[in-house]
Amino acid sequence: VILKHYVDDRSPQESDMELKVTTINLKAPSGSGLILLKNLYLSCDPYMRLRMKLMEGSYFESYQPGTVLSGFGVSKVVDSDHPDYKTGDLVWGITFWEEYSQIASPSSLFKIEDTSIPLSYYTGILGMPGMTAYVGFYDICSPKKGERVFVSAASGAVGQLVGQFAKLAGCYVVGSAGSSEKVALLKNKFGFDEAFNYKEEENLNAALKRCFPEGIDIYFENVGGKMLDAVLPNMRDCGRIAACGMISQYNLKEPEGVHNLIYVVMKQIRLEGFIVINHFHKHPEFLHMVMGPIKDGKVTYVEDIAEGLENAPAALVALFSGRNFGKQLVRVSSD
Ligand code: NDP
Repeated sequence: VILKHYVDDRSPQESDMELKVTTINLKAPSGSGLILLKNLYLSCDPYMRLRMKLMEGSYFESYQPGTVLSGFGVSKVVDSDHPDYKTGDLVWGITFWEEYSQIASPSSLFKIEDTSIPLSYYTGILGMPGMTAYVGFYDICSPKKGERVFVSAASGAVGQLVGQFAKLAGCYVVGSAGSSEKVALLKNKFGFDEAFNYKEEENLNAALKRCFPEGIDIYFENVGGKMLDAVLPNMRDCGRIAACGMISQYNLKEPEGVHNLIYVVMKQIRLEGFIVINHFHKHPEFLHMVMGPIKDGKVTYVEDIAEGLENAPAALVALFSGRNFGKQLVRVSSD
């Protein structure tokens, strides 16, 4: 899957990408150090859209038009000239949006040791989005039992886990999402105490007041814009905001202004951004924490799986209209 051109101030479309058929040598020549991967699952992540444009001050490189997209995935090693990898190894990490990939530097690959749960989970709950929820909620938000937590984009890859972690920590949790089916999912499957469809609320401030009559201690920020503006006056003193992402801004030419920033001062709010890849050294600790609750059924995960690489562009652009129902990924091959 190739990016045709940069996409600036509009929603990305399938036609911004194209499928190209080419051949790849599945042998790693001696002395090359190469690893040959068969890609099983590819992850669709909102940050990939930001890589489709030129952005100043970004922590990632823009995609080059005419080249293959890269992103997180789960893959099987089919040949290796690298001493740390052998044929048959399963890995998750950065690969390319193609059926088979040649990896020259495996610094962003992680071996999969536990295969007792679905391999696709390494694109979500056990991979980058899971780490994002873990670092963002526990490290950035410092939750305490009984605190009131609000999560936006709450049914997605990251949000569904933040809500469940907050329940495990004994918090009161409310989520916002963009459809009544997603709202039902939050309450009935993930155990959120309350949820609302932000698209149907005429007044976000009133919706937040209804759900948080005593204010919000922790806001896990996934969307930015109008939602952040509505949250700020509803924060409690010394509240914490984990600035994880602002998807409502990714397709805009000019970011929306946030008018209520003064409440950061007035309410002594700690507003902290973070980039999950800078916390990947905590992955073993995270797996240790989350495997038990997954196996015991205390933490659950909803995936939205598109079938086949040819459907990957549609799956990626679906994130920006909210068509995904849970973690969006693509099954390229099942073995
Ligand atoms: P999701 O699985 O939640 O998919 C994106 C969702 O965002 C959509 O389903 C949609 O849900 C919602 N959305 C799309 N457009 C808008 C809009 N204009 N306004 C409000 N909501 C919108 O994605 P992830 O869980 O993977 O990512 C969530 C956030 O976390 C993103 O902002 C992402 O960039 C960020 N992130 C940050 C990381 C970091 O290191 N800081 C790492 C990973 C993710 P709905 O139907 O509810 O509107």
